[in-house]
Amino acid sequence: MEYTHKPVLLNECLDALSVRPDGVYVDGTLGRAGHSREIAKRLTAGRLIAIDRDKAALDEAPHRLEGYMDRVTLVRGNFGDLTEILAGLGVDGVDGMLFDLGVSSPQLDDGSRGFSYLQDAPLDMRMDQSAPLTARDVVNGWDQEELRRILWQYGEERYSGLIAAAIVRERARAAIETTGQLAELIRSAMPAKARREKQHPAKRSFQAIRIAVNDELGEVERMLEGVEVRLNEDYFQDRAKWNAMAEKIIFTGPIDAFFDYRLGALEYRSVRFETEVLDMENFQGNAVVNYTDAETPFTRIIEHKHFAFGTQPKTVISREYSAEWRLGDEPYYPVNDARNNALYEQYKALAEQERNVIFGGRLGSYKYYDMDVVIAEALKCVRALCT
Ligand SMILES: Cc1cc2nc3c(=O)[nH]c(=O)nc-3n(C[C@H](O)[C@H](O)[C@H](O)COP(=O)(O)OP(=O)(O)OC[C@H]3O[C@@H](n4cnc5c(N)ncnc54)[C@H](O)[C@@H]3O)c2cc1C
Repeated sequence: MEYTHKPVLLNECLDALSVRPDGVYVDGTLGRAGHSREIAKRLTAGRLIAIDRDKAALDEAPHRLEGYMDRVTLVRGNFGDLTEILAGLGVDGVDGMLFDLGVSSPQLDDGSRGFSYLQDAPLDMRMDQSAPLTARDVVNGWDQEELRRILWQYGEERYSGLIAAAIVRERARAAIETTGQLAELIRSAMPAKARREKQHPAKRSFQAIRIAVNDELGEVERMLEGVEVRLNEDYFQDRAKWNAMAEKIIFTGPIDAFFDYRLGALEYRSVRFETEVLDMENFQGNAVVNYTDAETPFTRIIEHKHFAFGTQPKTVISREYSAEWRLGDEPYYPVNDARNNALYEQYKALAEQERNVIFGGRLGSYKYYDMDVVIAEALKCVRALCT
């Protein structure tokens, strides 16, 4: 079958990769080679290492990458083994990597692979057809709680409990063999109102089972295991080293420190904690209680165990006091008064002249952000970079 398919974020991905003609790139999920083809096209002396665990994808690749195969190395394997794959090829560094996670359209379109709830086929769902675990094994073999967990965790299926129970009831009668049987079983386990949803009632469950069969999250974890993480590195200790390593730098430290405080220091309010271990199970029944009256010298009491609903016999509380901030102290809360905001605007103007540095986060933009807002800002920033 001839597939004509353009990956949804093709241009955005290619912009983000900014392929250098002599660079080395990895496409960890070759699929139908939509991304690989565009990367390979941009290479001259460079190399593309294209990985997939699906034999069908590898078989198709020479055709899909026709004209570019001289710069492509095809690897049948899991991107979770990336470190070993690269070592096996003698590659000790790459210029960019791309992973288009999830199922690929030919896998869905080919009904016989058992990924689709729209076509009846044996329950398979293996991306690597030589792998031992199939969807049939999961559906007929995993215990009810494990089924409920994957449906909830990988499919965000609200009715995970009902569906897992229905699967266990049904398979006690006879093994569940086909996608059609499973799809119908899921549909009938759901309350009537859920069956009226726009999307197919089995969509979330099929996604969940597919993720479990192919250990898709495990593969991502294994891939990340090979990533070098360096903590306690201070950018200011050796700017030249980091600048030489990175095409773009994301700086989330204090913006004035980046410019060596050349226009003066921005001010912060700091906090000081007095922490006590109390010989009682519970002090205030809540993670945070604020004190706003003038007489209380602290602003709040944090009782740490309630963040995680601990059950220990003792409890740890911290009284939080506002504190004067001096340069060198931990910068907690920006003081967004007129003077500091004006100073920040001057630093921001300097920042805008830095071509390779993106200033972000609460310290880079001198603003108090709640966690969700800082994540939203980061995503906005990525989107702006990729378009
Ligand atoms: C005291 C306090 C309590 C908060 N409580 C809440 C809360 O309850 N709920 C909520 O939603 N939000 C809360 N927030 C806000 C939330 O923590 C922040 O919005 C969020 O963590 C900001 O993320 P960020 O990446 O901008 O900054 P940070 O999390 O501060 O990250 C900045 C990073 O940059 C690193 N860095 C700085 N300089 C350098 C350098 N020279 N070299 C290398 N690395 C450097 C720092 O080490 C740090 O890891 C609180 C903030 C504070 C200060």
